[in-house]
Amino acid sequence: MWQDLDIAVKKTAPEKRKEKPPQDALGFGDHFTDHMFLMKWNKENGWHDARICPYGNFSMDPAAMVYHYGQAIFEGLKAYKGDDGQIYMFRPEDNLERMNSSALRMCMPRLPVDNVLKGLKALVYLDRDWIPTVDGATLYIRPTMIGVEPALGVRPSSEYYFFIIMSPVGAYYAEGFSPTKIWVTDKYVRAVKGGVGHVKTAGNYAASIMAAEEAHKAGYTQVLWLDAIERKYVEEVGTSNIFFKIGDDLITPPLGGSILGGITRDSVIELAKSWGINVLERRISIDEVTAACEDGSLQEVFGTGTAAVISPVGELCYQEKKYTIAGGATGELSKKLFEELQAIQNGKTADPFKWITRIG
Ligand SMILES: *Cc1c(COP(=O)(O)O)cnc(C)c1O
Repeated sequence: MWQDLDIAVKKTAPEKRKEKPPQDALGFGDHFTDHMFLMKWNKENGWHDARICPYGNFSMDPAAMVYHYGQAIFEGLKAYKGDDGQIYMFRPEDNLERMNSSALRMCMPRLPVDNVLKGLKALVYLDRDWIPTVDGATLYIRPTMIGVEPALGVRPSSEYYFFIIMSPVGAYYAEGFSPTKIWVTDKYVRAVKGGVGHVKTAGNYAASIMAAEEAHKAGYTQVLWLDAIERKYVEEVGTSNIFFKIGDDLITPPLGGSILGGITRDSVIELAKSWGINVLERRISIDEVTAACEDGSLQEVFGTGTAAVISPVGELCYQEKKYTIAGGATGELSKKLFEELQAIQNGKTADPFKWITRIG
């Protein structure tokens, strides 16, 4: 049983190790490290056959259920090399716990969090030379679980793979911390209460691509989603949570079943509260946002997520009307949150919330 799950280690032969890409042209998710973590689940044995092994292809039956009905969940987190040369991860237990809530909703097996965390740390340490050292670049970590039983009946798979792959990624703001332009859609919706909007599952992203493509064609970076019923209340932006600074309040939509509970969102709420900012988790309509923009009380808008940490918004386009936020410049609070979170993540400042895990 998984209580005493052993993790085997099979290292990639030195001559088979990949050449590392230049750090100034990493992009996002284009390169992968030399090793991965893999374990399997079936009804008889639970999680078993856990190993760290050379990064490589899976051979899978074309009837594997994930290809047909999309039982797939994932996570995204990062490892960093601090100025002190130490390796850090940001709130990794929270990612694994969130994956377990995703697993529950998708009728997939729970992960043994302690064992997986042990495996994850060992994997990061083994591939530590892949952690970029240039400012802002990090090692992105992608834990994933898929149903692999070869069968076409619509029901939970009786076999699963869980794996972790890792990719060195460039600084999100290679050209500086500058605001993005956001397209508000009332034509497409992302999620509805009772569905899987609060779950990090593959199908949500497949369903979102068309809206994102239309936004890109119109010259916008990301889509802002409204609630699926009234198409009125703000939900999320792209694959990030969203915050509005109106007057002295920092407002973010509440987690009501259609929004993904971001770990960055939670960190921003904690941090802002600790600075004495009035943080409100409440519904906010797009009309309230545009009215606040027009009367000047809307001071800042920003997205939060692991990839960018804080992503300031400089313009919203809603029903063909453009709204410029704070003159299109990065807000003071956005900048302060970004700098503080990055400093905590890189081990450069105190970590009062115990968010950091040191490896090695
Ligand atoms: C992952 C994700 C987020 C951000 O979550 P973090 O834990 O902060 O990275 C927000 N919204 C969606 C839809 C996501 O998939």
